[in-house]
Amino acid sequence: MAIYKLKEFKIKWGMVIDLDKCTGCGACMISCQAENNMAPMPDATDKLYSMTWMLVYRLSNGKPFPDHDIAYLPRPCVQCGNPNCVPVCPVIATTKDEEGGIVSQISPRCIGCRYCMAACPYRARYFNWHDPVWPQGMEKTLTPFTSTRPRGVVEKCHYCHHRFKAAKEKARYDGRDPNKLDEDDYTTACAQNCPTGAITFGDLMNPEHKVAKLAKSPYAFRLLERLGTDPQLYYMSKREWVRRQGDNYLEHEPTKGV
Ligand code: SF4
Ligand code: SF4
Repeated sequence: MAIYKLKEFKIKWGMVIDLDKCTGCGACMISCQAENNMAPMPDATDKLYSMTWMLVYRLSNGKPFPDHDIAYLPRPCVQCGNPNCVPVCPVIATTKDEEGGIVSQISPRCIGCRYCMAACPYRARYFNWHDPVWPQGMEKTLTPFTSTRPRGVVEKCHYCHHRFKAAKEKARYDGRDPNKLDEDDYTTACAQNCPTGAITFGDLMNPEHKVAKLAKSPYAFRLLERLGTDPQLYYMSKREWVRRQGDNYLEHEPTKGV
């Protein structure tokens, strides 16, 4: 159960991921690593064990051939409206941003206690067990827009928050209202680099943003919605078995959607 109730925000940055379009290619995982200065692990051959804030899970309907079917489910932090991770942090190293509802992670404050990891029902937080080391030459690929994190702190997806700040600064520079960003002003690296267009990003509260319409689709659902965490990340699939697995419905319980 969610334990922390926050007020509704005027802007809620969110995503809709269309699982019928996702091919499981992993471009979202890699672009997240590159965008957010994540060092490769000593053995980076298995991306599931590399540090990445976006994990792509493989789902199966469990049926034998010829009825076998699979789906891929990319899962960053779902940016809970009621984030269990926030109230348990003893040093306020994670907060719910009132300008868009993004759950932050302030690494210099983090003491590595990992309470937030225990509290997160989505396993969307990762402890940094290793000092970040880049193979020779690869350090030149680091971006100046986001800091690297040392060993001993927790990391997580923050919807490329540096891009949000840059978009607001550009809007101010252009003489526009930074609190009324257009759909194209701000997007995440994973949404930008998905080759099939499976990830749509925008303001869930703005009816002009595509994401707001998609979130109302009869095929849309959220992970573990019944916990009351109120995620700002939606999924959609026309396949009933995918929706069933995504929200852990009981065997005979009807799913949402058509
Ligand atoms: S980049 Fe797009 S298609 Fe590839 S795994 Fe991620 S969501 Fe799926
Ligand atoms: S998914 Fe986990 S880390 Fe993200 S806001 Fe929710 S509780 Fe916090």
